[in-house]
Amino acid sequence: MKYISTRANYDEVSAAEAIHLGMVPTGGLFVPESVPTFSEEEIYQMSELSYQEIAFKVLEKFLTDYSQAEIREVIEAAYNENSFNKEDIAPVVKLNDNTYILELWHGPTAAFKDMALQILPHLLVKAIEKSGSDKEIVILVATSGDTGKAALEGFKDVDGIKIIVFYPNDGVSKVQEAQMLTTEGDNTVVVSVEGNFDDCQSAVKEIFGDVDFNKLVNQNGYQFSSANSINWGRLVPQIIYYFAAYAYLLRDKGIEAGEKINVSVPTGNFGNILAAYYASQMGLPVNKFICASNTNKVLTDFLKTGVYDINRDFHKTISPSMDILISSNLERFLFEMTDHNAEKIKGWYNDLKETGKFEIDEATKAKIKEIFVGQWTTEEETQETIKQVFEEYDYTLDTHTAVGVDSYRKYLEETGDKTVTIVDSTANPYKFSKAVLEALEGEVAEENEFKILDNLNQLTGLEIHRGLKGLEEKEIRHDRNCDSIGIKSEIKDILNVK
Ligand SMILES: *Cc1c(COP(=O)(O)O)cnc(C)c1O
Repeated sequence: MKYISTRANYDEVSAAEAIHLGMVPTGGLFVPESVPTFSEEEIYQMSELSYQEIAFKVLEKFLTDYSQAEIREVIEAAYNENSFNKEDIAPVVKLNDNTYILELWHGPTAAFKDMALQILPHLLVKAIEKSGSDKEIVILVATSGDTGKAALEGFKDVDGIKIIVFYPNDGVSKVQEAQMLTTEGDNTVVVSVEGNFDDCQSAVKEIFGDVDFNKLVNQNGYQFSSANSINWGRLVPQIIYYFAAYAYLLRDKGIEAGEKINVSVPTGNFGNILAAYYASQMGLPVNKFICASNTNKVLTDFLKTGVYDINRDFHKTISPSMDILISSNLERFLFEMTDHNAEKIKGWYNDLKETGKFEIDEATKAKIKEIFVGQWTTEEETQETIKQVFEEYDYTLDTHTAVGVDSYRKYLEETGDKTVTIVDSTANPYKFSKAVLEALEGEVAEENEFKILDNLNQLTGLEIHRGLKGLEEKEIRHDRNCDSIGIKSEIKDILNVK
């Protein structure tokens, strides 16, 4: 299996090279040259397999330059009882006959990012071995909160790799910040940035594409790579849980063999929903993809009008991991939807860079509309959904998952489509305790986020996620700060590169 650039500006590479490089050095993203498939029979048989066995079947199709033994080894290292203390790894919980919640937050940091970031470091270590490179890898991460901690946990103390995380100061919750700033490990650095997530992400992306700076860094014995979902190694593990969810529904008799499902995905960078799309291309029976957004509804508007326009106000919401205007992985999706038309992609992304917007052609728009639906949820509706679901089902949603549930309900109301629907639950509710408690009880006077955690625990009885317990007693180990134009000099300082 070879990987090609969405902008046709780079030679094809192997899976290990794509993972090692992170993104295409000349701009653009790596995608598989063609999508491998499963037969219907193979998909039904997954209902008898464990998560790890399903993971093996998916990964071996994409990582053809990894040996079977290597793939088994990385799966064992990533998805085990220590890292995920649930046998199903990503359990499916029934709300009612057509609504199921796919819990993707049983990993160490309580966010769905763990699903990929527990395995990516192991994939990367093997990729470096294969390349024979003697450079120390420096992982640069821009985070809206959850990726940062998940990447830090995944990479901490991994030999031959250093990780630097940039997060928007004031753009993450206190709990998220405490999770990051208390990270141990000699190879971890955390920097708060004056600016929003898009500023952080754009600065980091620019550094990946900065040929002179990369040369300088190389001369000093380092090489950059990425743990953001622009790295194919982040996306491929996310395909696994869609097959696992389908297998669990079959196993638990929620659906019959061959039955189509919908998926509703609280979306930010478009990585999670793109993985669902790739799963469907591999043969997973999916009817509709519901792309759920918060007030930063650039994707809802795009799916409706065909115009992607970031010239708009940026809103800070109670679902901050979705506060994104530039959804990086949309580029991969458009490349697939245009049958790999790199010229179109180049044109659109050039427009985006120059004018902050682009418009796709009618044919591509029609093709997308057949399978993708955009819905969005206001702040009030997010809160109402948390309250309603708690009262009706005694189930506590986090703010992001609530957006997924509400968007699905709107879709259901508009269409009457009774297809069994999986809503991705992307964070444990304790990660966003204040907003969840306010949704349930009204204004919360308590300022201390850690006390709020306990209060939410008293109200819901839900066990506090192990990754969020006792955070306030942990030592703060990171105190770097810069503004977004200073990110490059901050990196120079950290690596001692002149
Ligand atoms: C990252 C994240 C999202 C958005 O996922 P994408 O793959 O970027 O679309 C949604 N919810 C939570 C809690 C997240 O951490």
